[in-house]
Amino acid sequence: MKQKELLYTGKAKSVYRTDTKGKLIVEFRDDITAFDGGKKDILAQKGSYNAEVSAFIFQYLEKNGVKTHFLNMIDERRMVVRELSMIPLEVIVRNIAAGSIVRNYPFKEGTPLKPPVIVIDYKDDSRHDPMVNDDLIVALGLATTTELKKLKTVALEINRLLSKLLVAQGITLVDFKMEFGRQGRTIYLGDEISMDSMRLWDKKTGASLDKDVYRFNKGDVMATYNSVAGRITGKKSVKNAGKKQR
Ligand code: C5P
Repeated sequence: MKQKELLYTGKAKSVYRTDTKGKLIVEFRDDITAFDGGKKDILAQKGSYNAEVSAFIFQYLEKNGVKTHFLNMIDERRMVVRELSMIPLEVIVRNIAAGSIVRNYPFKEGTPLKPPVIVIDYKDDSRHDPMVNDDLIVALGLATTTELKKLKTVALEINRLLSKLLVAQGITLVDFKMEFGRQGRTIYLGDEISMDSMRLWDKKTGASLDKDVYRFNKGDVMATYNSVAGRITGKKSVKNAGKKQR
């Protein structure tokens, strides 16, 4: 398969056309951003850790009956995916109160949320991704009531599967973000599921194992991504980032 022209550049990924109809290539770059792009850096190998974790999670979800856009990897940072018509929503599932809901609502950080709380944001950088409710989503024509119901059911099922996968590695899934798209009438999970889009805490120590390490200068970002990628995929020290040179 040949990579063709650049179709779209996001904050951390680029999407290319291919010579095959209905298939795109997603490249995971080394850019890392936080606070609406207010903090930016380039961290060597970061893209390949996120690509590897995303690929692993997409394949795990597919095996468990979830439809995802993932088709195959070309190299350590490029993924072939189904071309979807993306729904501009960020579907966030929260199992424990942390991050923006602690800032915006009277939750104490660390409070378990049972049942999990689904928060949906309208994906629009110029409006700072405002939270939307079901009525707004339908009124804006972003999804039908039936699609919205389906999105929430699938989001909760993904949360169940992912929490189970991670807890077996001693990792608590605090919250995470998903994006979905359509191909015909079918809705697929798109985008990525990685350390950039999940909030993960070490079950024993409570330490952050995700982008919060970058957001809040909690330690060595690449050493964390390296170690967590190894824990999730079961491969030891995938690359050499974060390792001291002898
Ligand atoms: O910042 P907040 O607490 O709302 O984020 C909830 C979860 O969604 C976190 O895991 C965060 O990494 C993810 N997220 C994301 N992309 C965004 C907003 C949130 O991946 N634009």
